[in-house]
Amino acid sequence: MSTPHPETWLKVTSKGLYCEPGDFFIDPAWPVDRAVITHGHGDHARAGHKSVLATQETTAIMGSRFGVDFAGAAQSVAYGDTVQMNDVTLSFVPAGHILGSAQIVLDHKGSRAVVSGDFKRRPDPTCPPFEPVPCDVFITEATFALPVFRHPDDAGEIAKLLHSHGLFPERSHLVGVYALGKAQRVIALLRQAGYDAPIYLHGALLALTQLYQSRGIELGDVRPAAGMSVEDLRGQIVLCPPSALSDRWTRRLPDPLPVAASGWMRVRARARQNGAELPLIISDHADWDELLRTVEDVAPAEIWVTHGREEALIHQVRKMGRRARALSLVGREDEED
Ligand SMILES: [Zn+2]
Ligand SMILES: [Zn+2]
Repeated sequence: MSTPHPETWLKVTSKGLYCEPGDFFIDPAWPVDRAVITHGHGDHARAGHKSVLATQETTAIMGSRFGVDFAGAAQSVAYGDTVQMNDVTLSFVPAGHILGSAQIVLDHKGSRAVVSGDFKRRPDPTCPPFEPVPCDVFITEATFALPVFRHPDDAGEIAKLLHSHGLFPERSHLVGVYALGKAQRVIALLRQAGYDAPIYLHGALLALTQLYQSRGIELGDVRPAAGMSVEDLRGQIVLCPPSALSDRWTRRLPDPLPVAASGWMRVRARARQNGAELPLIISDHADWDELLRTVEDVAPAEIWVTHGREEALIHQVRKMGRRARALSLVGREDEED
């Protein structure tokens, strides 16, 4: 019996990527009966499925974001667990993207596909590192898949923030970060750099930061900014969602210095748009070099690209002697990074 090509059992539908023999969708864009979720970001994890299968951290994140009734039923697994769905075996392997993020390894009749969700390769103190899994088809994101995107060392970016903090002790440094993943990573990187003063949080960042702490991620002394006086926040580092950098919320801060931490800060126009005086390039997605290194490490016969800058990656992967195609999935945007 010959092994079936993943193309024959893993299909793109209007609701998303569908595994026919297992009868489930991965990160579907619309409510479905059975959803398998790679991680908690909004373009992958949605409320309203009849059943959800994901890591314990991801189901906890979905519960925090959408409420405890985010799905009819939820099954939580740990990294390394396997689950059988008809004649498809699923296993969950760290993707290194955010807390709970998993690559989903699908084995069917001797053929294997790996759905990476989103991933990065550099160390992140808030989640276990990406593990390359050999496979026939590797399904990858392409958020930063252009040679211009080469993320610098994150310790160097955090050093820029601490340098500015030292130069302007009378100002508060207001750092715009996405609530899930980036906020907690920036806090952890500040702690790694030796910053041990309290870090203040906008209300929109509190619940997910507490969830990270409850999962054993050490973030030190973090406090709500609400209720603090202007004088209390002088000289402090305060984290808020990117949208709050330029809204009236900042009026409670003494002479705020707006900072943004995102992979998109490589693009000067985006930094200006965000109103960031100090742009920091800190990304939870693989950059160009990480994407190509991952293709080498995973060594699949074929790459499928879900979202981002598909053409450049497909062109490069073909030059590397492998097959590549775009999946054109619906419902994926340039995400929170
Ligand atoms: Zn993501
Ligand atoms: Zn994504």
